[in-house]
Amino acid sequence: MHKNKEVHLSSESKVPVSAYYGSLTFDHKAMRARLPKEVFAALQDTIKAGKKIPESIAGVVAHGMKEWAMEKGATHYTHWFQPMTGSTAEKHDAFLSIDRDGTPIERFSGEQLIQGEPDASSFPSGGMRTTFEARGYTAWDPSSPAFLMKGGNNLTLCIPTVFISYHGEALDSKTPLLRSMDAVSKSAIRLLEILGVNGVTRVKTFAGCEQEYFLIDKKFYIQRPDLVMTGRTLLGALPPKGQQLEDHYFGSIPDRVLEFMQDVEQELYLLGIPAKTRHNEVAPHQFEIAPIFEEANVAADHNLLTMEVMRKVADKKGFALLLFEKPFAGINGSGKHNNWSIGTNTGINLLDPGDTPEENIQFLVFLVAVLKGVLKRSDVLRMSIASIGNDHRLGANEAPPAVVTVFLGELLENVLDAIESGKTDLKTEKQFLDLGLSQVPSLNKDYTDRNRTSPFAFTGNKFEFRAVGSSQSPSVPNMVLNTLMAEAIDDVADAIEAKIAAGKDRSSAILEAIREGITATKAIRYPGDNYSEALQIAAKERGLPNMKNTPQALRTLEKADVRAMFVKYGVLSEEEIHSRLHIRLERYIKGIDIEARTLQLMLKTIVIPDVSEYQGDIGSSFNNLLAAAESIGLSDAAIGSQAKYLKDLAEGLSELIDLAAELDELVEKIESFATEFEKADFCVETLLPHMVKVREVADKLELLVDRSRWQLPTYLEMLFEH
Ligand code: ADP
Ligand code: MG
Repeated sequence: MHKNKEVHLSSESKVPVSAYYGSLTFDHKAMRARLPKEVFAALQDTIKAGKKIPESIAGVVAHGMKEWAMEKGATHYTHWFQPMTGSTAEKHDAFLSIDRDGTPIERFSGEQLIQGEPDASSFPSGGMRTTFEARGYTAWDPSSPAFLMKGGNNLTLCIPTVFISYHGEALDSKTPLLRSMDAVSKSAIRLLEILGVNGVTRVKTFAGCEQEYFLIDKKFYIQRPDLVMTGRTLLGALPPKGQQLEDHYFGSIPDRVLEFMQDVEQELYLLGIPAKTRHNEVAPHQFEIAPIFEEANVAADHNLLTMEVMRKVADKKGFALLLFEKPFAGINGSGKHNNWSIGTNTGINLLDPGDTPEENIQFLVFLVAVLKGVLKRSDVLRMSIASIGNDHRLGANEAPPAVVTVFLGELLENVLDAIESGKTDLKTEKQFLDLGLSQVPSLNKDYTDRNRTSPFAFTGNKFEFRAVGSSQSPSVPNMVLNTLMAEAIDDVADAIEAKIAAGKDRSSAILEAIREGITATKAIRYPGDNYSEALQIAAKERGLPNMKNTPQALRTLEKADVRAMFVKYGVLSEEEIHSRLHIRLERYIKGIDIEARTLQLMLKTIVIPDVSEYQGDIGSSFNNLLAAAESIGLSDAAIGSQAKYLKDLAEGLSELIDLAAELDELVEKIESFATEFEKADFCVETLLPHMVKVREVADKLELLVDRSRWQLPTYLEMLFEH
């Protein structure tokens, strides 16, 4: 008889998640409990309208928030914001202050809640502010709830904020996202009114980010300067198995990893982040977490928090979390599928085909707008996801390519073709039902009809932008999606209005605009395999942009018409665009520079010494053999074989030493170029290819050298041993 094994659960997991969900956020429930009725109501109105909080109630809200936070154990607060580095930043202040008579007291004023003044000089501004006025303001985004972040032995009250300069320019990624949400709302309400849908006061955009990541043992991580410094392995030979067998995907999750996931989820639930799914991914040691979708700015905050929480929990569990897009060469990289949709405050999803002919038409109009927007601005979308890490992923036959196309699924393709060819009489609304549109969602949910290779796929009632990189902030791609959509919606609305002005009745005008939109956007629809050569050819024939690397993609921000779009929709000013371009270029160049210098360090202090030491062993063993060869009667051929072994090793090492010396020269050369673009192009065209050459030689040597002499943890150990 065996005893029942005792199962240890932490206190929180004994109670249902719903009982503690969001308990570390100043959410609806906490606000209602802590704020006077009128203040609570005023704050809710502010949030619903997407407005700034009025000064008249700020003091009371701050007091309520402080009391709540202190009861939970918080001593400090911080404005939590998204500088243009793609991550988040915080500067903590104690509630503690000392009164004039020397009495210590906890204070948190309305002013401190709604506005903070961190020293902005250490955050990138892209040249927008000179140092003497390096002051930025952070201001609360009340639509994203304040939360208590665990850290050390304490809790800190974090207030999600925008970060703006003294002159009002956005220094962060949240502000433009919020502006883009306003822009698309305005355009969509206008189009809805043209369609005869009245009473909508706000159109919202939603996002749900499927987050992929790798977990490896921390003991390996800390022995790899490349992982620590750059997030990816710059060297490392692929083991024989690789991922050919694909037996990892949806396989059972190892226990240690499951514990990590459960701890992460518990932290996320406390923070009111609706984590929903977890599973293995294609590559060994690769996993995914996905939440229930939320309004885009909240989803972006929550994704950034999720990455932070995962990093902390991984560390506690003896893991290292790898969010880089391509940590291991030859092994699938990680993305962040950004599911995106737009819907009304009255609860209508505008990308849902719906059940009635009216809803079908509304869906088609918005669908045509998406097609128009993505076709016209596919370069901007590509730009929005460009990064060092994503350059290794996009177009690597494992991830959506650098060409942006839209996948609609067979049924929808047929519907659009039928409308375009005029086979259907669009004048009778009844026909829309006959087209089977009302069945689109259920059909598309069928996995067999999914094109996993598409960078931008319709999946039933939303689009899935799959080319986003795993480490990126969702704020930027969602900002671009919203802006291109605002523009495209206006375009459709203009077309319909022009037809009405020319004397057409409303429904013919709408239907004609749909038909014309379908014809005009055929180039962006691609139902085939996006990993195939055919896509590359199609892209060329159709004139679709195919930008292979970050510097190319960033040049999009220099285009006058792109800048005009951002300016027109009030999302980014000329100066803000300029600063973003500058910061992203600089980050790219610095990032590659760090990679190259890390590689230098590894070659000189680890790899070359290891190989050289082993060569010494083989050399002396060969000398001993030569001395004994005659007495043991070793043939010349046998001696030759051993000589060749030593020769391969010696030649490899010499080659590596030469390549390392060349690498030194190239690294020093970066700074010699006059412009940022020249520097970045040099990285792409010369430095990175040289690093690939170095890697080839080093990886060959790795497979020759005695394992006990090779100090770097190998792919085999990091990815295949548990
Ligand atoms: P998969 O792509 O793996 O099949 P799901 O279909 O479950 O995954 O959805 C993935 C993500 O899409 C989830 O985060 C989900 O909440 C989100 N999602 C679902 N509906 C919408 C929507 N209307 N708008 C935005 N995101 C959505
Ligand atoms: Mg998906």
